[in-house]
Amino acid sequence: MTHWFISDLHLAPEETRITAGFLDFMLEPQDGDHLYILGDFFNYWLGDDVPHPYIDSIKSLLKATSERGVKMFFMHGNRDFLIGKQFCKDTHITLLEDPSIITLNDESVLLMHGDSLCTLDTQYMAFREMVRSQEWQTQFLGKSLEDRLAFANQARDESQKGNAQKEQTIMDVTQSEVDASLTNANVTRLIHGHTHRPAIHDFDLDGANAQRIVLGDWYTQGWYLKVNEQGYRLVDFDLPVV
Ligand code: MN
Repeated sequence: MTHWFISDLHLAPEETRITAGFLDFMLEPQDGDHLYILGDFFNYWLGDDVPHPYIDSIKSLLKATSERGVKMFFMHGNRDFLIGKQFCKDTHITLLEDPSIITLNDESVLLMHGDSLCTLDTQYMAFREMVRSQEWQTQFLGKSLEDRLAFANQARDESQKGNAQKEQTIMDVTQSEVDASLTNANVTRLIHGHTHRPAIHDFDLDGANAQRIVLGDWYTQGWYLKVNEQGYRLVDFDLPVV
């Protein structure tokens, strides 16, 4: 049995290469395997009730994958944190809290999207706290699609303007937050995405060997982490030319 991890695909109807790469990738997981999508699967998400043929086609693929015996899990990212119960029900995906602890090869491992680790970005952390509240989400999802779209566009523009002025270190994880998250979870291995800096970092955590595995985004190539009895493999692959 193999565990597959992906994140930061930023799927959207106009992203034909990424979408084709995802369709190819979905042939990999076999019956009995587990697939974890650790956030920012979609480029944005304005609510489960927004109709779109592209969304329907992705949902159908997920459902079919589940029906052939692949167990799938989804964790919210900062772009698709509004994916809700209906989406999970339609696709047979299990929603995971951020953070979550799972067992891989008899070891407890921590999973996160990764945005909550970037604590130096205080502006984003404040925004995150606001939009992750139940009250804000209920109010937002009660708005017309037009109003939701206007908010999303404005938030994206402000974020892009803000990010252009931020130091690169601010956009990466804070090591002290990584250490605290591992210590709180009582584990020594973390898998996350979000930063678009795919790598396997080995470091010391209070005298123990710890590891942080960062998944890659799919802008220029595909990335996945494959975990089985042979260990952990972080793999990149070419997206098909379409
Ligand atoms: Mn992200």
